[in-house]
Amino acid sequence: MSLTLALLFAVLVALVLGGSTATQCRRNRDLRAELDSRRQDEALMRSTMENMAEAVIMVDAEQRLTSFNQRFVDITGFDPRFLGARPPFEDVLRHWVGENHLSRHMLDRAMLRARSREPFRHTFSHRGRDYEGKHVPLAGGGFVRTISDVTEQHRAAEVLRDSEARLRQVLELAPVAILASALEDGRVLFANQKAVALSGVEAGALLGRCVEDFYRRPEDRLQLQEALARDGAVNDYELQLWRASGEPIWALVSAMRGEFGGREAVIVAISDITARRQAQQELELARQELLEANRLMQRANAELAEAASTDRLTGLANRRRMEQTAEVELSRARRHHYPLSVVLFDVDWFKAVNDRHGHEAGDDVLREVASRLQGEVRKSDLLARWGGEEFLLLAPSTALAEALALAEKMRQLIAQQPFGRAGALSASFGVAQFDGSEGFSALVARADRALYRAKDGGRNRVEWAGEDERSGA
Ligand code: GH3
Ligand code: MG
Ligand code: MG
Repeated sequence: MSLTLALLFAVLVALVLGGSTATQCRRNRDLRAELDSRRQDEALMRSTMENMAEAVIMVDAEQRLTSFNQRFVDITGFDPRFLGARPPFEDVLRHWVGENHLSRHMLDRAMLRARSREPFRHTFSHRGRDYEGKHVPLAGGGFVRTISDVTEQHRAAEVLRDSEARLRQVLELAPVAILASALEDGRVLFANQKAVALSGVEAGALLGRCVEDFYRRPEDRLQLQEALARDGAVNDYELQLWRASGEPIWALVSAMRGEFGGREAVIVAISDITARRQAQQELELARQELLEANRLMQRANAELAEAASTDRLTGLANRRRMEQTAEVELSRARRHHYPLSVVLFDVDWFKAVNDRHGHEAGDDVLREVASRLQGEVRKSDLLARWGGEEFLLLAPSTALAEALALAEKMRQLIAQQPFGRAGALSASFGVAQFDGSEGFSALVARADRALYRAKDGGRNRVEWAGEDERSGA
């Protein structure tokens, strides 16, 4: 309105002071055009003001209210006629202070602020709602003021503050250490008491610290970050963290992305598993030691068993092992009616070897006999040193005829090649087939009698025992 008046005034002045009629005509045309354009501007401004969500008022350089919109009327409840009469802004304020029963001091302060040449914001409440006022000074004096209703924003912020306060309480009660850090820069936003204690950092000092400083191995941090970016959460990740004291601890960590304090955050739950890891390590060490002891014991046992069942001189099975094996083989032959035979043999004139060439040479002969025959027996057969210069072969699944052939082969292996300095030697053989029911000693006794017959018959020969050939028979 004042602009329009000022312009009208300018038009009048121009008319009075104008020069020649032609010049005056041109000037009049120009002024009319400018007037029209200003009117259009003003209409545009009015419609803009009316369409704004905020209440708006304009105050001119003389501190008079020149414009207001309907929203301003709605909020303040002022009479539009009062506002439309271009009242001094002080009157408007006085009205406001009176209506709202505010103090004189408030009025003074508001007046002082109205003259501010700097923009500012202020908040106030009115009839149970919250408002934010913005003051923008204009270049030629005066100012524009807008008022927005921020009640809903304030309520939302309050709800957020409430729910966050509750969240903090719950996190404090949690049985593990919990820490929230900003996703953007990794700075600690929250740490519960347990997290503070675990970190060894003082409570105040922990906030704002960078969580990256706590990882012992950077690759753990990277892996966690990757998993969080990929899955949004990580469960039970084992890693090492630094305490403030510089000592590392083992931690079991679960983390998820979320929001904290209105910021994108990573929330991490941490359990200290250092003691558990140590116990595990000690247990593993003890287990390894036990395994090693067990291995040593098994080896010792095997050696003992070997020693207990082996003849030291020849490396063949000893009498004890032969008896144990025979027990098993005889019962199997008995059960399944398999044939089974034994071959007992004795080196001929062995005493003479000892006598002529010494005991050592006798030992060599025994070793040589063992090695010549060992290669000839089947896997299922067992060749043993039965005693002195006497040997016994146990041949399961072998009937008499086959056993006789085997004995003959062994006889040849001994007789056909000389035994070093002991020269040519021979052995006598007695063969017997298990009769299906007798004991092992009875079977060997029959083979022994056949062997005796072989000695008696001239040595270096094979004899066999008949089934009816019982001892004393
Ligand atoms: P025969 O043909 O009748 O069997 O005559 P032999 O001389 O072989 O029999 P005898 O029983 O008279 O002698 C066996 C000898 O074998 C006596 C013993 O000193 C010897 N002898 C027994 N065990 C060993 C041994 O481990 N090493 C040596 N070098 N000699 C042994
Ligand atoms: Mg003998
Ligand atoms: Mg002999």
